[in-house]
Amino acid sequence: MAGGGEETTVVVRNKKVVLRRHVTGYPTEEDMEIVADTVRLSVPAGLTAVLVKNLYLSCDPWMRLRMTKHDDGASIPVPATDFVVGEVLVNYGVGKVIDSTYPGFNASDLVWGMSGWEEYTLVTHPESLIKINHPELPLSYYTGVLGMPGHTAYAGFVEVGRPKRGDSVFVSAASGAVGQVVGQLAKIAGCYVAGSAGSDEKVELLKSTFGFDDAFNYKSEKDLAAALQRCLPHGIDIYFDNVGGATLDAALLHMRHGGRVVACGMISQYNLEEPDGLRNLGCIISKAVRVEGFSVRGYLHGYARFEEEMAGYIRERKVAVVEDVVDGIERAPAALIGLFTGRNVGKQLVVLERE
Ligand code: NAP
Repeated sequence: MAGGGEETTVVVRNKKVVLRRHVTGYPTEEDMEIVADTVRLSVPAGLTAVLVKNLYLSCDPWMRLRMTKHDDGASIPVPATDFVVGEVLVNYGVGKVIDSTYPGFNASDLVWGMSGWEEYTLVTHPESLIKINHPELPLSYYTGVLGMPGHTAYAGFVEVGRPKRGDSVFVSAASGAVGQVVGQLAKIAGCYVAGSAGSDEKVELLKSTFGFDDAFNYKSEKDLAAALQRCLPHGIDIYFDNVGGATLDAALLHMRHGGRVVACGMISQYNLEEPDGLRNLGCIISKAVRVEGFSVRGYLHGYARFEEEMAGYIRERKVAVVEDVVDGIERAPAALIGLFTGRNVGKQLVVLERE
């Protein structure tokens, strides 16, 4: 394609997912709408941008937070603007460059980064795009283990959790995109690791595929503290928290002296109008626990090192990957809302076109 100089008149269909209304409570498919638009296959003259054909869309929990208008009282602020009614949803994706006027990016380059939930996106902030260095691995991995969720697991566990050999690690939402990577990094670091998940099938996956030492189904346990005592009899050195709420409260009771809580996400709270309270915060004082929140965006400087290390683990089969893949942009809304009932088994993504 033209590199921005000569403008093509080729215009093609561009189906997209737009927000139909702001959301309170659990999101539904009706909160989103598929609309048919068109796109011209070149960057308009005078604009510095990259035109990307989207191949894989990532479904990530934080999209739900952006569906609530902040003026409407969202309880968890996110470092990004709210989605706008009538406009395309925006999130991480994997794509192929069709045309570019941004230095260093050329037609046919494979990239991942912030894109639209549509077939083609004119990326006007191309500094958010990253070139894919390992196209020999499945490209879809750049929505998960090699992309934002994998990097979140790595930055949170290694840099915030600071594991030591022999530590006891607990991970919630453990079979999901972030959790499955955290558990496997913990095993590589020589830790004992237990996880929680929302079905017996997921519990089995944790133990058989991801190498967790133990796991429990939090939906069928009467007493979360007892489940933690059973799976982590010596207490918890690092709790990697993906869910917040009752699981966080139970984990606080079970922390060891000097333990670390890596506050990664609180998915159990994202659809509540009033967040749950915690009763066991006093344990932070009595057990000298460090609770530290983080956003992966604060660790982007370390992405290149992470990508190399993780690609190595995948090649050496030290890290297994489980994805939940749906086909076609029409199925993207259902895939997204499935994150909040635990319908996904592994990293949830949508394939638009396989390379
Ligand atoms: P995921 O685990 O692949 O999918 C979400 C999972 O959350 C569901 O499959 C479900 O699994 C679980 N879940 C849903 N509702 C729940 C509830 N009420 N209570 C307990 N578990 C519930 O998602 P992910 O992409 O890996 O994200 C995991 C967490 O990390 C989220 O909180 C997300 O916001 C956070 N995150 C943070 C950062 C950061 O920079 N700090 C970056 C990325 C993600 P079960 O079947 O096991 O319930």
